[in-house]
Amino acid sequence: MRVLVTGGTGYIGSHTVVELLTAGHEVTIVDNLANSSPIVVDRISAITGSSFDFHSIDVRDEAGLDDVVATAAYDAVLHFAGLKSVAESVERPLEYFDNNVTGTITLCRVLARRGVRTIVFSSSATVYGDPPSLPLTEATPPGAPTNPYGRTKLVIEDILTDLQRADRRWSVILLRYFNPVGAHESGLVGEDPKGTPNNLMPYLAQVAVGKLDRLTIHGDDYATPDGTGVRDYIHVVDLAAGHVAALEKLVGVPGAHVYNLGTGSGTSVRELVAAFETAAGRTIPTVVGPRRPGDVAANWCDASKAAAELGWVATRTTADMCRDMWRWQTQNPDGYET
Ligand code: NAD
Ligand code: UDP
Repeated sequence: MRVLVTGGTGYIGSHTVVELLTAGHEVTIVDNLANSSPIVVDRISAITGSSFDFHSIDVRDEAGLDDVVATAAYDAVLHFAGLKSVAESVERPLEYFDNNVTGTITLCRVLARRGVRTIVFSSSATVYGDPPSLPLTEATPPGAPTNPYGRTKLVIEDILTDLQRADRRWSVILLRYFNPVGAHESGLVGEDPKGTPNNLMPYLAQVAVGKLDRLTIHGDDYATPDGTGVRDYIHVVDLAAGHVAALEKLVGVPGAHVYNLGTGSGTSVRELVAAFETAAGRTIPTVVGPRRPGDVAANWCDASKAAAELGWVATRTTADMCRDMWRWQTQNPDGYET
C-alpha cells in the first residue's frame, strides 16, 4: 500500500511509520515540524533500513499539500497532524480549532479532489467525556469533552462522518486512542515533550532521570481502589500496529468505522509509579496535590471490537511500557536534541 502520513514525525506517527515500513508499505510523511524534530526522519531510517519521502508542509497549505498528493496514487491517509495540549487549547482555542479542524477540512478537500478516499483519523478517548459507565465501548455515546482540544476531536469525527454520508465511497476510520505511552524498543524514537510534560508517563520518566524533583499526584480521593486516577495505558508500538491492522482490513471499504484502541484494563497513578520504579531501579519521589480540573476518575475501554474485526490486540504489558520508556529516556535525556 502507498500511505500518506500527516504528523508522521510526531510521537505516534513516527512509531506508526516504523510499523508501516516494516510491513512493506510505502510511506510519505507530511509534517510542519510544529511539535517534532527533523532528526526523527533519520531515526526511522536507522530502525527500518527503508527510505521514504518527507515534506515539511502544513496541512492547511492546500496548494503545497495538493502537490504532494498529486504526485502518487495513495491508497490511504493516516491523519495524525494536530495540536494536542489540553492546557494550551484552553488558552488558545482559535489556534486549536484552526490547526486541527481547518487542517482536516483542507486535507479532505485535497484528498477528494485527488480521489483518495480512505482516511484514518487520530481520535481520542476524550470524546467520551466523563464516562457514564465502564468499560467504554464504541456504542457508548460521545459525551461532552471538557476542553477545546477534546472538542476539536469530536467536531472532526462529526465532519468526517458527514463527509462519508455525503459520498458513500469514503472509508473513514476513527481510532479512539486511550493513553499511549512507552517508546520503540530500539530507544531511537519516543515521546519528546517540549517544556515540562503534562502527561503522567513522561513526567515520571523525567523525575526518574533527575530532571524534575518529584511527581505531584493529582488527587488521591477518587472513587478508585487506591484513590488515584485510573487510565488505560497502551504501548505506542501496539497502537502503531493497530493502525496497520485497520488499514489492511479497511482500506477502500466504504463506511464510517469506529474503534477503541486500548488494552481493556485500567492502571492507577500509584500502580504506574510502582511499575516505573521497578523498571528504573530507583525510587520516584511523589507528593499528593489537588485534583486536576477536568480530569475524570477512571477511564478504560472495551477493546473487543478491534480484536474481532481487525484481528488486533495490544500485547505489551505495563512493565514493557515502563521498560521501553526508561530506555528512551536514558538514551535521550533531552529528547531528540540530546
Ligand atoms: P505529536 O505532537 O507528537 O505529533 C503530531 C505531529 O503533527 C507533530 O509532529 C506536529 O509537528 C504535526 N503537526 C501539528 N500540526 C500540524 C499541521 N498543521 N500541519 C502539519 N503537521 C502538523 O502528537 P502525538 O502524540 O503523536 O499525537 C498524534 C495524534 O494523535 C494527534 O492528532 C493527537 O491529538 C492524537 N492523540 C494523541 C494522544 C496522546 O496521548 N499522545 C491521545 C489521543 C489522540
Ligand atoms: N497525573 C498525575 N500527575 C501528573 C500528571 C498526571 O497524577 O503530573 C494523573 C492524572 O490526574 C490522571 C493520570 O495521571 O489521573 C493520567 O494523566 P495524563 O495527563 O497522562 O492522561 P489523561 O488525563 O489525559 O488521560
